[in-house]
Amino acid sequence: MRTLPEKYRLLTWISLLLVAGFLTTSIASYIVSRDTIRQRVVEQALPLTSDNIYSEIQKDILRPVFISSLMASDTFLRDWMINGEKDTDQIARYLKQVKEKYNTISSFLVSEGTRRYYYADGLLKTVAEKEPRDAWYYRVRDMKTDYETNVDIDMANRDAMTIFINHRVFDYEGNFIGATGVGLTLDTMTDILDSYQTRFHRTIFFVDRDGIIKMTGKSMKDVHGSITRLPGISAISKQILNKSITPTQLEYTRNDTTILLSSRFIPELDWYLLVEQDITDDVVPLQRILYINIAISALVTLLILSIVLFIVNRSQQLMETIAGTDTLTGLLNRQAFEMIFQQAILDSERRGSPLCAVLFDIDYFKLVNDNHGHLAGDRILQEIATITKGAVRDNDIVARWGGEEFLVLLKDCPLQQAIAIAEKMRQTIANHDFALRGGDILLTASLGIAEYAREETPADFFTRADKALYQAKAKGRNRIAVSPTATARNESTEDEAPAAD
Ligand code: GH3
Ligand code: MG
Ligand code: MG
Repeated sequence: MRTLPEKYRLLTWISLLLVAGFLTTSIASYIVSRDTIRQRVVEQALPLTSDNIYSEIQKDILRPVFISSLMASDTFLRDWMINGEKDTDQIARYLKQVKEKYNTISSFLVSEGTRRYYYADGLLKTVAEKEPRDAWYYRVRDMKTDYETNVDIDMANRDAMTIFINHRVFDYEGNFIGATGVGLTLDTMTDILDSYQTRFHRTIFFVDRDGIIKMTGKSMKDVHGSITRLPGISAISKQILNKSITPTQLEYTRNDTTILLSSRFIPELDWYLLVEQDITDDVVPLQRILYINIAISALVTLLILSIVLFIVNRSQQLMETIAGTDTLTGLLNRQAFEMIFQQAILDSERRGSPLCAVLFDIDYFKLVNDNHGHLAGDRILQEIATITKGAVRDNDIVARWGGEEFLVLLKDCPLQQAIAIAEKMRQTIANHDFALRGGDILLTASLGIAEYAREETPADFFTRADKALYQAKAKGRNRIAVSPTATARNESTEDEAPAAD
């Protein structure tokens, strides 16, 4: 049968299994959901945003490219140049028309022959190779493609992004004769960036080929410099600045939060478009669900444990009753004893042999449990059982009557001998070292003795032993007390053993 520690071992195993099972499923589902969110953001949301922004840019750029292309192939413009740039007013009128009609912020023409820079108000200047601000013209002159887009930011107004389309102009023989085009602001762009920020908590910004931040929404207006030096993102800046026009999915950590990022190179701008999202807000509800799951699991575990404990205790009691033995001490239990008790009384009546009962109870046992724990208490009960069995003959009967109460039935034993045996038991218990921590604890027992009187009922016999035990307790414990015999009782005197030392 199961002893107490074994029972607790079973409970420990059940709780371990339940906790392991619950934790595994809760954490696994948390991880799966978190990864799904992350995957959705990385593989769909961010690239989609990136695509949308890119097509916005293309749409904005396409129109000026078209205008510039028309200007470059305009026969009036070419003829005017081929014919020696005679009337500046004519070309100024032309450029002004273009500017006003298409609502651009500038329109221009640079002649290869004269190096003159014309704009809507006439002649602006002459471009020079050494002048850094004119470097663009010499670049355009030598490039292989028909046009380029060149982005300038208006330093006075950080939000305004100006884009110039520089288109090469040829004469009718295909000789390069100059560059023309328009400049316009992509002023809708920052609004788009801000709307993505507020609607999807996605931050969008542009960096140039060296990683310098060029354009941001409002949320990042205080962030300047190069991403190669910004905390967190600098770790992946090499992967960002990879010239790839297909979106690259990356992630980095900033202030302990994970930021997912999609990056792509936009050749038209010569910039990188970065879209990033902090997924903390999406993950927090999942964490809350995880905690709730764990709390529910803990509750269910406790519930199951109490049910198991209840069932184990019930079946233990049932088995004890059926087996007639007390699990803890191995002694007879009360039910088994009661049957044997009847039989012993009948035997004694029939054979006229003396029969004595010793009922004893450990003194202040509650203190042992309180100070040393229930398991130590159990061990002491087992040792008391061993001591008691050692003190009596083999055919005497020892039973555990209740919690820390024992009952001994001494067969063929006259009262004086029973008194001697009981006294010996008292001394053995008092002198026994129960090896309790704190050593100085003296564990004792009080014993009540009764001799069976002819024709009394088993209940009366037991009650007399119980009363004697009560008297031993009342007189100060660690002593034996004897129930008066029938004659003595008639004389109303108490035959009482001397108090122990
Ligand atoms: P006294 O008998 O001297 O009056 O004092 P006591 O402290 O022994 O008082 P009482 O008999 O009322 O307390 C009995 C205690 O024995 C209470 C109970 O917790 C404990 N007990 C009963 N059965 C067991 C058991 O199987 N194992 C353990 N460890 N303790 C038990
Ligand atoms: Mg007691
Ligand atoms: Mg008791």
